[in-house]
Amino acid sequence: MESTIINGRAVADEVLASCATKISQGDVVPGLAVIIVGDNPASQVYVRNKVRACEKAGLHSEKYALSVDVSEVELLGKVAQLNADPAIHGILVQLPLPAHINEDKVLTAIAAHKDVDGFHPENIGRLVAGLPGLRPCTPAGCMVLLERAGVSLSGSRAVVIGRSNIVGKPMALMLINAGATVTVCNSKTPSLAATVQQADIVIAAVGRPRLITAEMIKSGATVIDVGINREDGGLVGDVDFESVRTVAGAITPVPGGVGPMTIAMLVSNTLQAAIA
Ligand code: NAD
Repeated sequence: MESTIINGRAVADEVLASCATKISQGDVVPGLAVIIVGDNPASQVYVRNKVRACEKAGLHSEKYALSVDVSEVELLGKVAQLNADPAIHGILVQLPLPAHINEDKVLTAIAAHKDVDGFHPENIGRLVAGLPGLRPCTPAGCMVLLERAGVSLSGSRAVVIGRSNIVGKPMALMLINAGATVTVCNSKTPSLAATVQQADIVIAAVGRPRLITAEMIKSGATVIDVGINREDGGLVGDVDFESVRTVAGAITPVPGGVGPMTIAMLVSNTLQAAIA
């Protein structure tokens, strides 16, 4: 069986175009402030792509590049200033932060209604309770991909591999809220292969190249690969794409799957924050 390739780039472009139309017709220009600390090359690329997507959609964006030795107090001061700025509807602090800064303290200092990354405890609590709120971009993007691929979630069996606060856990909660029966795996899960074999929907968010192989996949399952691993100058996912595509019903590629959706959902969240 040859699976359907879920084109995340095309879906992301549709989401961005729909945001651009709403922004051009609305009275408010949504504003996003991105704070980056230090010169981590991967973070620089992510921030550049985020700012570019904002420009494409007609958002106002501001980038604050702070030195690697900025103090926690100074960073919190910047967040407080942006919290009070009426032209800014979304604030994003690019992670990771240097070790001398308490990440939780910074993320919690962002006003919950401007927390477009969806990491503030209030927004996580809203997700747990199934209440409206700003949702973490990567799992929210996976949900849009599942919806566009026509995958029915209610009554399905989903396995999420990875339990991080930014991907695995919120992903599991979104699937639970959508009526799926969800298992969350981690590095100590016994019989990972047998567990994944049960799944109608597999979400891989691990950070291990090609961990998920064809033998682990039930025929016809939908496979969403969140992993981004750098290898020989290129990017590979957590799923062994070439073997799994012969078994899965639908699969996302890396690159061109979940990655573009994360950025599109950031724009969508900023628009949501601006019109709320
Ligand atoms: P993380 O390191 O915080 O978490 C990884 C999780 O995988 C942990 O819960 C760990 O227990 C689990 N794990 C590790 N080895 C395992 C194994 N052998 N079997 C089962 N579980 C195992 O990572 P993260 O921040 O959640 O990111 C995961 C991957 O997704 C990374 O490759 C990251 O680059 C990528 N990512 C992509 C996007 C995107 O936009 N596409 C966004 C965020 C993260």
